[in-house]
Amino acid sequence: MEHIAVLGGGLAGRLTAWGLAQQGFEVSLFEQGTRAGERSAAYVAAAMLAPLAESVEATPLVVSLGRQSMALWRGITGRLKTPVFHQENGSLIVWHGQDKPLSRDFQQHLSRANQGVNPAVHWSAADIAANEPQLAGRFSDGLYLPDEGQLDNRQVLVSLADTLEDCGVHCHWETFREISDLTEFDGIIDCRGYGAKTRWNRPSERSRLRGVRGEVARVYAPEVSLNRPVRLLHPRYPLYIAPKENHLFVIGATQLESESDAPASVRSGLELLSALYAVHPAFGEAEIREIAVGLRPTLNHHDPEIRYSKTDKLIEINGLFRHGFMISPAVADAAVRLAVNLFGGGGIPESDSVTDLAYLRLEAV
Ligand SMILES: Cc1cc2nc3c(=O)[nH]c(=O)nc-3n(C[C@H](O)[C@H](O)[C@H](O)COP(=O)(O)OP(=O)(O)OC[C@H]3O[C@@H](n4cnc5c(N)ncnc54)[C@H](O)[C@@H]3O)c2cc1C
Repeated sequence: MEHIAVLGGGLAGRLTAWGLAQQGFEVSLFEQGTRAGERSAAYVAAAMLAPLAESVEATPLVVSLGRQSMALWRGITGRLKTPVFHQENGSLIVWHGQDKPLSRDFQQHLSRANQGVNPAVHWSAADIAANEPQLAGRFSDGLYLPDEGQLDNRQVLVSLADTLEDCGVHCHWETFREISDLTEFDGIIDCRGYGAKTRWNRPSERSRLRGVRGEVARVYAPEVSLNRPVRLLHPRYPLYIAPKENHLFVIGATQLESESDAPASVRSGLELLSALYAVHPAFGEAEIREIAVGLRPTLNHHDPEIRYSKTDKLIEINGLFRHGFMISPAVADAAVRLAVNLFGGGGIPESDSVTDLAYLRLEAV
C-alpha cells in the first residue's frame, strides 16, 4: 500500500486525506496547528456555500465546482464521524430603498453569469415576512436564491479530524514540516494554502500566490432568529450574515489587498457591525464574541489549481481564495483521482508538468 503524506491540515488537506484513505492509501497528515484548525483560513471563514451569489464575481470554473460541491457536501456531512451544522435553505438578498439600483445591477450580473436566466426569485415584503418573520416590515422586497447553503466551519474541521483519526489516518497535529522533510513517502500532497507562498512564487512559476485579508465578526444574539444567510447589498459594505446554531451569527467578510494578519481595524469592525445593525436593530444588543482575521490563499487568475510533478511525486492544491468551502469537495475529489493515477500506478494524463488548471477544467460540468 502506498504511503502518502498530506502537508497542511486545513480544509483542503483534511478532505483530501480522507479521500485518499477511502481509496486504500496509507495516509499521514501534518498540520502545524491543533486539530481544531485555528491556524487555517478555514477556521475564520463564514463557510457560505453560495454558487449563485458568487457567480456575479467568480470565474465560471469556480461556479461550476461550487455547483458540483453542493451535492458532494451532502454525502460528506452524512458520512462524517460527528454531526455538523449543514443548512440548505437558500439565501436572501436585501437592500434599503435608496440602494434599489444595486439590486438591478446584481440581477443583471446574475443573469449574465447564468446563460441569460435570472435564477433569483423575487420576494415581496409579505414573502419576506412569511419566510423570515423577524425581518417583517424591514425591507420592501428582496431576492431569494435557492440552491445555496452554509456549514459551521469549525464543526467541519473538528468532525473531519474525528473522521480521519477514526479511519486510520496518522494525524500529526502541531507538526510543522517542509516538503523536503517528507522524502520517505511514496507521494506528497501539498495543501498548505498561504503557507506554500514561497514555493508558488519561485521565479519559474506561471501562477503567483498571495494572501487576501478578510475579517469576520461572530456575535451571539439570543433575541434574533434567521432561517438562512442574509446578504445586504450596500454601496460601502456589501456583507452577509450567516446564522449558525444557538443564535450565533457570523458576519462577513471584508476583502482587503493586504497580507497583514494584524487584528481587525476599527473601520472593518464598524463596517461589519453596521451591516448587522442595518439588517435588524435587535442586533444592537448582541454580544461580540470575536472579530477574526484570515488570509485567503489566492492565485493571480482567481481560479484554484492542482498541479503535479511526477519526478517529485508531488501534487499541489492551492488558490481556493474566498470559495474554499464552496468548492473544496470537487477540488479534493479531482486531486484524489489524480493521486490514484500518479501514485497508484495508473499513469498520468498527458504531461508531467503543469496542466493542472486544464485538468480541473476537464472535471467541470
Ligand atoms: C475571512 C474569510 C472568510 C471566508 N469565507 C468563506 C465562505 O463563506 N465560503 C467559502 O467557501 N470560503 C470562505 N473562505 C475561504 C476559505 O476559508 C479558504 O478558501 C480555505 O480555507 C482554503 O483552504 P486551504 O486548505 O487551501 O487553506 P487553509 O484552510 O488555510 O489550510 C492550510 C493549512 O496548512 C497549514 N500549514 C501551512 N504551512 C504548513 C507547514 N509548513 N506545516 C504544517 N502545516 C502547515 C496551516 O496551518 C493550515 O491549517 C473565507 C476565508 C476567509 C479568510
